[in-house]
Amino acid sequence: MNYISSLPSPSWQEQPKMISILGSTGSIGRSTLNVIRKHPQSMQVIALAGGNNISLLAEQAQEFSPSYLAVKEEKDIPTLRDLLPPKYTPTILHGEEGYAHIASLTEVNTVLCAQVGASGLHGTYSAVDSGKVVALANKESLVLAGELLRKTAQRTGASILPVDSEHSAILQACNARPPACISKLILTASGGPFKGKQLSELAHVTAQEAIQHPTWKMGKKISIDSATMMNKGLEIIEAYHLFGIELSHIEALIHPQSIIHSFVEFEDATQLAQLSYPSMELAIAYALYYPIGRSVGVPSLSLLEIQSLTFEPIPSTYRCYYLAREALQHSKEMPIVVNSANEIAVESFLEGKITFLDIPDIIEYVVEHMSIPVISSTLEDILSLDKVSRLYTQEYIHKKYKTR
Ligand code: MG
Repeated sequence: MNYISSLPSPSWQEQPKMISILGSTGSIGRSTLNVIRKHPQSMQVIALAGGNNISLLAEQAQEFSPSYLAVKEEKDIPTLRDLLPPKYTPTILHGEEGYAHIASLTEVNTVLCAQVGASGLHGTYSAVDSGKVVALANKESLVLAGELLRKTAQRTGASILPVDSEHSAILQACNARPPACISKLILTASGGPFKGKQLSELAHVTAQEAIQHPTWKMGKKISIDSATMMNKGLEIIEAYHLFGIELSHIEALIHPQSIIHSFVEFEDATQLAQLSYPSMELAIAYALYYPIGRSVGVPSLSLLEIQSLTFEPIPSTYRCYYLAREALQHSKEMPIVVNSANEIAVESFLEGKITFLDIPDIIEYVVEHMSIPVISSTLEDILSLDKVSRLYTQEYIHKKYKTR
């Protein structure tokens, strides 16, 4: 194992945390503020960036009084100002540049990246480029730019900590022995809402049914990704970049109870697992208060109550999972293409333009038919390939499914 960055220094661990939260109005952003409410000592919110939910961002701003706010669209700035008390006048920025700016503020030492999808890469890159401790909930940043983020973190001394329950579990288990002893990572997956169903039963499922996750409460995009198991595929790529371990040494299995969050195997064939009731707040608190973590009110785990922990292989019908794995094996460009095709397909499914089973069909088509350029691992090249494959996917969906 060759971890992507150095881990946060003892001086960061002792310092007051001055934090920027990118994506504060989404599911992970709201959970992060919950964690901070429970442990406000030594934690100061310097900046909040929220996308579209301006009224919630205004509420959060009034509660935490950050000096900076950022919104996606410039047109939302006056609305946001109107919702704030006249005496409170934070700097309000907008767009990708605004997000990147609040991720790089000198007074900030910790950045939580919780934006949805590939658009989170700007903010993550800016935080890593500025040498911050980065609590990373935006797995797409690693899927698109794992190599770039590794090089950048090595140059700037930034630390990257996962805010994804599986990767947080792996990091915790890895800390038990020297990196050279680690031989395998095994990620667990709940199996999502459609576990055990035949393909024919999934032809007409609605977006509403697909976002009903059995064990985790999450945002819409990641809930659909869990239903298709693309989420696990992206997490395999995330683990590959984060832990610097060969794809052939990373496995995943279905564990419907979501109690074991992942395993690490060592050279002597012993495994360590991390267990708790499912709560994203635990993974957030482990990153923000690394390496100690904090109690977030999750009750003590009772295995007597759970009774049985079960495991199953991932069926080949979950094509999205296998498409993501194959993409990583194929080239450094292919995961970018698979990710953007998936984002567009999921968006179209949520808008009712395509069916649930069209999602893997669309990704497969794009992978097979788009002519994919060889790119260098620069932010510019990565973002431009992302853009091109989005357009390609949109056009294909429009043509094939007669929409728009
Ligand atoms: Mg996860």
